Amino acid sequence: MTNYLSMSKEELGAEFAAVMAEFEALKGANLSLDMSRGKPGADQLDLVDNLYSFVGPDKGFKSETGVDCRNYGGLDGLTEMKKLFGKVLDVNPDNIICGNNASLNLMFDAITQGMVTGFGDEPWLKQGKIKFLCPAPGYDRHFGICEYYGIEMITVGYTENGPDMDAIEELIKDPAVKGMWCVPKYSNPLGLTYSDETVKRIAALKPAAKDFRIFWDNAYVIHDLYSETDNLLNIFDECKKCGSEDMVLEFTSTSKITYPGAGIAAVAASDFNIKLLKSRMTVQTIGPNKLNQLAHSRMFPTYEALLGQMKKHGDILRPKFEACLDQFEEALGGKGIASWTKPMGGYFISMEVLDGCAKRVGELCKEVGLIITTPGATFPYGKDPKDSNLRIAPSFPSVDELALAAKVLCVAVKLAALEKLSK
Ligand code: PLP
Repeated sequence: MTNYLSMSKEELGAEFAAVMAEFEALKGANLSLDMSRGKPGADQLDLVDNLYSFVGPDKGFKSETGVDCRNYGGLDGLTEMKKLFGKVLDVNPDNIICGNNASLNLMFDAITQGMVTGFGDEPWLKQGKIKFLCPAPGYDRHFGICEYYGIEMITVGYTENGPDMDAIEELIKDPAVKGMWCVPKYSNPLGLTYSDETVKRIAALKPAAKDFRIFWDNAYVIHDLYSETDNLLNIFDECKKCGSEDMVLEFTSTSKITYPGAGIAAVAASDFNIKLLKSRMTVQTIGPNKLNQLAHSRMFPTYEALLGQMKKHGDILRPKFEACLDQFEEALGGKGIASWTKPMGGYFISMEVLDGCAKRVGELCKEVGLIITTPGATFPYGKDPKDSNLRIAPSFPSVDELALAAKVLCVAVKLAALEKLSK
């Protein structure tokens, strides 16, 4: 393994020619590969193809408490679904609202509520310029919501323990800072879980804005790849110790447990926030799709049943992650031009390439027929200040396709680095 950074001009030239030959050969193979989005593979979706057999004339349509799920009503969801999410999030079911198919929708609605009617203070829309803290690299759709509403995004970096808390503790002294995005477990795209210390410091924040809200997007709460798992402290337990429960709205969904787009989403919050959210929802809807909630709660009558399902997902995903990681190690290990995360769960691997090379890697991949997440998308406004982060989504392609896709990616990373180093 020769480190590119210590190669002579001649050695770099020879390596360039060799990698270019690999690149041309791959180009000739007419590939069509996609590692761009964190979608479950068809084999994962197959796991729940009997989901809708749990409702129907033979099984009945009544919930545990006798609610006829075919009819209107039940604003905050079925009792059994709230109990199940209560176990998943370790929160009192009374502090949970189960909605429809997408947590992103719940997050969008909550931000809209902040803008239009506020969180116990003036509506954000009437408060002039407002700002959100955006730990990055992060989830592009969070940033999309802020951009949609013209909320100024402040990029915050990461340490190995989670978002840079020193920076956050300073930034929240500005009363215009009204919120922060967090993906606390197996974060998108770093695959990192916040340390106990980080969760405690977040719970202890004393923002200048009293309507400051943390959007705690626990999308990957039980999405482990290994039996040994990352442990995340319960944010509400920590908030209780600091009297800051109203600061957090927690979100999750079954998108990557059953069907994305046809699952159940949930929000957990303090009594005060649940009341606020419900005051808006009462106007917005007569109730969620309870038949879907009934099907889900019958398919997973216990938390243990749900964890059993997650083990099956893990068994499918693990070889896919490992196919990528093995290829990265083999092709890029020791070269000094890339580093990557080795997550214990979630849906993504994050790679850092040489500064100024990420976009070029995206272009080179495209030339060979591999689509990766648009470089930059993991940062506010789609702009990676160092142009060095790549998000890799190994869930959708097959293991064989992934091994090939990872190979293409590595060749592109090497070529982009050699172009930079040869200048
Ligand atoms: N939150 C994060 C961090 C995600 O990575 C994703 C999907 O990739 C979502 C939310 C979307 O969740 P949902 O399908 O519940 O809207």
